[in-house]
Amino acid sequence: MQESPESPTDIQTGQVVGTLSYLKGLDRARHGVPLSQSFKFLNLSTIFREDFPGTRDAQIGSEFDYNPSSPRGPHTWNILWPGCNGILQSPININTSRVIYERPFQINYNLENLVISGDFLNNGHSCAFYPSRKLRAMYGVPHAEREMYILDEIHFHFGNDLQHGSEHSMNNLFFPVEIHLVHYNSRYENAKNASKYRDGLVALGVFMEVGFGPPTELDRFISTYVPRIAIPDNVGVPAILDINSILPYNRDLFTYYGSKTTPPCTHNIRWILMRTHKTITSQSHRLLYYLRNHENQRISRYGNFRPVQDSTCRMVEANFRNS
Ligand SMILES: [Zn+2]
Repeated sequence: MQESPESPTDIQTGQVVGTLSYLKGLDRARHGVPLSQSFKFLNLSTIFREDFPGTRDAQIGSEFDYNPSSPRGPHTWNILWPGCNGILQSPININTSRVIYERPFQINYNLENLVISGDFLNNGHSCAFYPSRKLRAMYGVPHAEREMYILDEIHFHFGNDLQHGSEHSMNNLFFPVEIHLVHYNSRYENAKNASKYRDGLVALGVFMEVGFGPPTELDRFISTYVPRIAIPDNVGVPAILDINSILPYNRDLFTYYGSKTTPPCTHNIRWILMRTHKTITSQSHRLLYYLRNHENQRISRYGNFRPVQDSTCRMVEANFRNS
């Protein structure tokens, strides 16, 4: 195992915009969180979010939607938001016959065995988890190997059935769920500032299949918290998430350069898609299915995935041998 190039540090104190539930989340963070082998604990007494993306997302929550018949549906995004008409748009289909294999990438995720606290909320488009602390989570990012990335948020994409839900597809096949872990470069103050730079943002995507195995830790997370955020709310609930329950053990990956998949479709994002999917139960999938949007409709009715974008001439690389 490689050593982390930097030690984790306390975050810099920013403007206090916390909520009661957020503070409760911090309180819960003091209990039962094991030390990572590669990380020491952060000083929780000085932790404040400078920016609370959940609030921001909820405020702009009704500005776009996924209804194909709506004037704000995905087919209009490239008119309403010029960035969505730009270059290097995401998501894309990964055509495995056109991937460049055996690239020397090795991502390292420093949250092994670490349980983190935060807020989990329904922003009207999806359910999203926002860590209470700025955690220096990942390094070894392809084409930015020397940079350290901070985990900013985790959200879910899903649809109305088992054939749709993921944003990316593999050889034109979709998974029922795709989870995105969004990170920003620790050089920059926050995700918003980082989005201005080519090495600013990294989104790590994990595909989820729906299976019949026993419930996993992620299933327990979903069954505990998703029913509590059935309708959009800019506060959410304090939650504790084991990142390890989302990440596949296998670190084989595809990577390409693209954009945010929601308006304004900012194109400065390094995408990392894990080759190995994970599995959730049909009960978990059902709980996501019932989440509501700002119009009190099921988010899953039209899904919350942007259609795949043109990937002609897009370079997709992989760190494993084609077999
Ligand atoms: Zn996403």
